[in-house]
Formats: sequence, structure tokens, C-alpha cells
Amino acid sequence: MQSHNIYSRKRARYVVSIGGNALEYGKGKAASLARAIESLYKRGDIVITHGNGPQVGKLASEEQSASLAILTAQTQAEIGIFMKGKLEENLPSPPEIAIVITSAVVNPGDPSFSNPTKPIGKFYGKKVARAMSQHGYAMRKLIGGYRRVVPSPIPLSIPELPLVKRLLDSHLLVIAGGGGGIPIVPIRRGIKFAEAVIDKDRTSSLIAEGIGAQMLLVLTNVDGAYLNYGKKGERLIGRAGVHEMNTYLRNGSFEEGSMKPKVEACVNFVEHTGKIAVIGNISRAEDVLALRRCTIITEGP
Ligand code: ADP
Ligand code: MG
Repeated sequence: MQSHNIYSRKRARYVVSIGGNALEYGKGKAASLARAIESLYKRGDIVITHGNGPQVGKLASEEQSASLAILTAQTQAEIGIFMKGKLEENLPSPPEIAIVITSAVVNPGDPSFSNPTKPIGKFYGKKVARAMSQHGYAMRKLIGGYRRVVPSPIPLSIPELPLVKRLLDSHLLVIAGGGGGIPIVPIRRGIKFAEAVIDKDRTSSLIAEGIGAQMLLVLTNVDGAYLNYGKKGERLIGRAGVHEMNTYLRNGSFEEGSMKPKVEACVNFVEHTGKIAVIGNISRAEDVLALRRCTIITEGP
């Protein structure tokens, strides 16, 4: 493993957010993603964040009494070590990689605790979905079928951010904020776990802002944010300012729990920093880096 303290001066920083649904590797995806990470790492230091929707849903169905917070911690370890392995396997001289178990502070009064929106686990047909809802699960019909949904409060702060920054100062490649972070509520003495799964896109924008990132890259299983998605007149949004994206958000152009949190996270990051954010396809990560065929969200029009 090569030492990267050859980078003495302060480098640019990037956050690459990888979808839990987009995570199944294979078909050369891991290799092409690794190449994209390698070329981005030449430009600056990177925090990779990742989702855990399908994975945490699977664990939750196997271990019904387990806390979603603890299951999220398990997926951070599992997906983190898997991604580290894939990067090391696919890169000729990988940078040193650190996996940071990350929590995220949420407000126990967040409205999402009474209005679950975050899909986890598999897609089901109508019959199974009805049976599951009779067993007390919140189920929602989405594009593609029915899924269990859980509360997804907004992350307010990331307690491990100073550690992430120290690792970046040493030019390690950091995997953090997995599954949106382990949701915690501070109490008088210590913390309490929250029954929720935070959307990793929101956590990614918080981390990106916190580390002073140059760009937020959201990699998923579609080419970007579409208007009229799945309908007649479907169109990929190429480049758009935050003002325009806010209009589409208000119009309900993006599905709750999938594309909407991505767009909101990008808009947030751009509004707070004046930098750019992109949403693109994980299977063409190198194109996304080159800002080809993806959605680019900018401050101005
Ligand atoms: P990830 O695991 O990457 O977070 P999600 O399933 O949460 O993936 O979000 C990506 C999905 O969002 C796409 O597969 C698509 O089905 C859905 N989606 C909903 N509305 C839109 C839209 N307007 N444009 C693009 N994708 C959309
Ligand atoms: Mg998602």
C-alpha cells in the first residue's frame, strides 16, 4: 500500500454518494467505479458515502425485533468492508482506505416519525404488501411495486465529522455516513438510538458541506433526475439552477424516498456552498465525472 503523504498541500475534496439500490456489483461495475474513484482521487480527497435501503430491509425482515439503528450500524460495517475490498481489488495502487462508523443526530420531533417515507427491503406484489401491512408494517406503492417504508428524519449533525476531516488531511480515502448514519438522539446522559433509516443523500450533503467539498456526486441506477419520469414526455434534466430545481421539487416531479431526497440534497449543498452537484449513473461513473449525460445542479440558472 502506497503512502499518500506525497500530497502535502491542501487538496480539493469530493463526496461520492453511492446508492444502496445501485450497489449490487458485477457486470464490470465495480471495476469501472474503481477507475472513476481513482481518477477523482488524482484531483482531490474523497469521502464515499453509501445507502443501505435493500440491505437494512433484508436484515430487518430476518431480525424483526432489532433496532433499525443497530441494523444500520451492521450494514455500515458490511457494505464498508465490501467496498474497500472491491476498490483494493480493482486498483493497481489503492490509497489507504478508512471506514468510519458514523452516527447522525436527529430531532425526535421530526415529522417523519409519524409519516414514514424511506423504502427499505425488497419490492413486493399487492398481496404480500397487504399481508405485511396487516402485520403492522407501513407499506407504500412506488414506481415498480410495493415496499416497506420507515421514518427517515433529517440528519442535523454528524458527530464523527472532525474525525473524517483528520483522515482527509492525511489523504486517506474515507468511507463514511453509510446508510445515512446511525440515527441518534442526544439525551441528558449520552445518546438514544432512533427507530429510523436516514436517507444517505441528505447525510452526504451534510458531509460535503462540512468538509468543504468542491462537488457532490450522487451515483444511482438512472442517468439523473427526469421530468415526467416513466411517463410520456420523459426528459432527463441536463443542467439546471437551484431555482429551477426548486420549482420541480414543488411540482412533485421527483418521487418521495428515492429521487426527491437526492435532488433536495443537491440543492441544499449548492445553495449553502455555491459549488455544483451532479446526479448520474453508477454504471457510467467516469462519464459522470466528466459531466456527461447526467443532471448537473448549479447555483445560477
Ligand atoms: P439509490 O439506491 O441510488 O438511492 P433510489 O431507488 O433511492 O436509488 O433512487 C433512484 C430511483 O429513483 C430510480 O431507480 C427511479 O426509479 C426513481 N425515480 C423516481 N422519480 C424519478 C425521477 N423523476 N427521475 C429519475 N428517477 C426517479
Ligand atoms: Mg435512495
